[in-house]
Amino acid sequence: MTKRLLCTTLAVFLCLGVLCACSYASSSQEGNASDSPQAANSASADQTNASASDATGNSNSGTTTQQQSPDTRAADFAVDPARKDWNYEAPATKTVYLTFDDGPSENTQRVLDVLDRYGVKATFFVTGMHPDYFPMIAKCYEAGHTIGMHTYTHDYDKVYASVDAYWNDLNQIADVVREQIGYVPCFIRFPGGSSNTISANYTKGIMTELAQEVQDAGYQYYDWDASCGDGAEHTADELVEATMADTSYGYKSIVFLMHDGVAKESTVEALPRIIEYFKQEGYEFAPIDRNTCVPHHGIGN
Ligand SMILES: [Zn+2]
Repeated sequence: MTKRLLCTTLAVFLCLGVLCACSYASSSQEGNASDSPQAANSASADQTNASASDATGNSNSGTTTQQQSPDTRAADFAVDPARKDWNYEAPATKTVYLTFDDGPSENTQRVLDVLDRYGVKATFFVTGMHPDYFPMIAKCYEAGHTIGMHTYTHDYDKVYASVDAYWNDLNQIADVVREQIGYVPCFIRFPGGSSNTISANYTKGIMTELAQEVQDAGYQYYDWDASCGDGAEHTADELVEATMADTSYGYKSIVFLMHDGVAKESTVEALPRIIEYFKQEGYEFAPIDRNTCVPHHGIGN
């Protein structure tokens, strides 16, 4: 069995394992929407200037001091329709990719502080729900974390109203991220994950279409392999227990779902123990990059 096949096989099992987490995500954790007007322009226009935007690299020495080599992230991470070199193979060493959705918010700085204390780099899939905190996007990036996009409004009935509506919303958060970090990154996460079925309430088959379209446009969507369950209200203890339960299979590559949105204080409280747990289990921590083993759920609509 090839490694690629093995990875695919694992992905299938992982998908099966997280399907309930996904629909759970759809119905609860992904529900804190806000509204914002939609602009009407095409996706392709935005992608063009996104990929054309700066591929200059090294803009960030930022707040961390351990950066040893020039920061090539801008050149590497900018959305580029010509690049299809996605990785579906697990890494050589056990690696966990902590991901935080729905920020930036009042909790993002607290998450950053914990990550900083442990020297852990993570990934933030950002929204436009709280414009006061947009500067946190730059701050996270400069600290060495990866920025991905999660849509601007995170409002299901707007985001999934049509394929064009999705692109308009994604382009809106792309503008924000470009302003904060200088380019539009290729990493995205669908609200509710690609397996969400809530989108069927608005547009039948939209996830099938979007999954293909975003990749054609040079983006890649990252679902998750496991979660701490903070989409719903839980105590920190419960989040730690859920983490252990959902990662007990010990797979080599785990993209791990958490939230730094509003009212996610228990996530902040649980985060040190979650990090310590993964350390004890022998995992290294990494921010998502183009080498990350891409997790895709089974598409449900
Ligand atoms: Zn979300």
